[in-house]
Amino acid sequence: MTLTSTAHVRPALLDAPLPLLIDGREVAGRGAVIDVMNPSTGEVLARATSATVEDVDAAVAAARTAFDDGRWSKLAPARRAALLQRWADLLEENIEEIALLESLNCGKPFPIARDFEIRQGIEILRYQSGWATKLNGETRDMSLPGTWHAYTRRQAIGVAGLIVPWNVPFTLAMSKLAPALAAGCTTVLKPAELTPLTAVRLGQLAVEAGIPTGVVNIIPGPGSVAGQRLAEHPDVDKISFTGSTAVGQHLLRTVSHDLKRISLELGGKSPVVIYPDADLSIAIPGAAQAIFANSGQVCAAGSRLYVHRDVADEVVAGIKKIAESMQLGAGTEPGTQMGPLVSSVQRDKVLDYLAQGVAAGGTIVTGGFAPERDGYFIQPTVMLIEDPQASVVKEEIFGPVLVAQTFGDEDSIEDVLAMANDNEYGLNSLVFTRDISRALLLAEGLQAGNVRVNTPAGMDPALPFGGYGMSGWGRENGREGVEAYTELKTVTIKLG
Ligand code: NDP
Repeated sequence: MTLTSTAHVRPALLDAPLPLLIDGREVAGRGAVIDVMNPSTGEVLARATSATVEDVDAAVAAARTAFDDGRWSKLAPARRAALLQRWADLLEENIEEIALLESLNCGKPFPIARDFEIRQGIEILRYQSGWATKLNGETRDMSLPGTWHAYTRRQAIGVAGLIVPWNVPFTLAMSKLAPALAAGCTTVLKPAELTPLTAVRLGQLAVEAGIPTGVVNIIPGPGSVAGQRLAEHPDVDKISFTGSTAVGQHLLRTVSHDLKRISLELGGKSPVVIYPDADLSIAIPGAAQAIFANSGQVCAAGSRLYVHRDVADEVVAGIKKIAESMQLGAGTEPGTQMGPLVSSVQRDKVLDYLAQGVAAGGTIVTGGFAPERDGYFIQPTVMLIEDPQASVVKEEIFGPVLVAQTFGDEDSIEDVLAMANDNEYGLNSLVFTRDISRALLLAEGLQAGNVRVNTPAGMDPALPFGGYGMSGWGRENGREGVEAYTELKTVTIKLG
């Protein structure tokens, strides 16, 4: 494997089979040694050992002991916060290497990996570390006869099993590790088998930062083995999962036997609504970014466009122009704006959806094919389609594919809301208009956990993120994110 830029130093993790991290030690997983691919080239990037059921049990035992003996949960909150900050410092010192691993493993452009994703993950860690010293209960006044003292306490749930996907591996791992650790939980993280590299690197740096052994355990391995055992394990108190709705539903059934706590951050099929009064110089690049960022492999991607007929031609032509100007390439190639999809499986899934869309009467305005080159690329695509029930309109494609429909003056705000809400998912939604009343009415009526007005951006460590309906259960980030790793206890004392 050659790196395309001499500015990059080859990370050591690429040269030996990737280990697991259990109880502060690097150990070889007892499962198969698998190839970790570079999706930009289709070549093997690294080799990784994988966790068996026995390895998961060892990781959970380490996390259980570390929780029960209080080395983390009973540490002074300020000390816990300081260790998490030290970890954030080390991650920042190693940001070039971590971003390079992510860029090579996922195909994402290196500057975006470094300056946006990895940085955002570190910011999440810094933000959540602040909650370690601020998680408080309250006193409450009671109405029962007599004199009482009543208060609530937030206590760490225990061992948290964290299962993350391949689309934004470092940041999603940090969205779970940071709040879990700030709350005082101990953790076992299972990264996706396709993208285990940055998970192991962040685990190494947690040990170097002085976070006690057993508090952060990393177990790359197949979902059906390592993820499944984690979800079933009686000593795991909470599962936090990001990924497909199908696996989320399966995990819900899995944890039902012991009512393990569970958070689910699932898919999306988010609408983008553009009115003719919008500033199109913001709306057009905004809509393009909402679907083409990370090659469309984003749960919050704006993948359904509803554009007013008066500006539909201009908007679609503008997005087409951006799509056709995007430089596709390897993540580490200078100038790359869009990398490949993560795997040949994901690329073929997207191609299959494109064929379904055309069969359902869709017209491809631009893209719609896999370019002839190595790697798992899909040309950024815009499709016009009238059938609101077509699979490309209803289902999460998870690729750079925007499906566009129009509305007109005859459609009231309620009609537009009905179109936008006609989906089982409810993760994100974008509205472009200069009319403040219309924006607020849409924000009120959109059935989604997040509404963004006149921008595709809006992720922030302080802001809760999560979905309605089939997009999941619970919220990550913000105070809500850390509270999801606590149990709420109520104490009542009869004083007289
Ligand atoms: P999955 O939901 O299968 O994978 C997400 C994580 O769950 C991975 O770590 C995976 O492990 C793990 N997992 C899989 N099966 C189990 C199980 N039985 N028990 C516990 N953990 C398990 O997503 P895919 O990678 O298969 O992607 C399929 C589709 O899901 C995509 O095309 C996309 O539509 C959607 N998706 C949505 C994401 C989102 O953020 N909303 C993220 C990723 C995918 P492993 O991969 O190692 O087997």
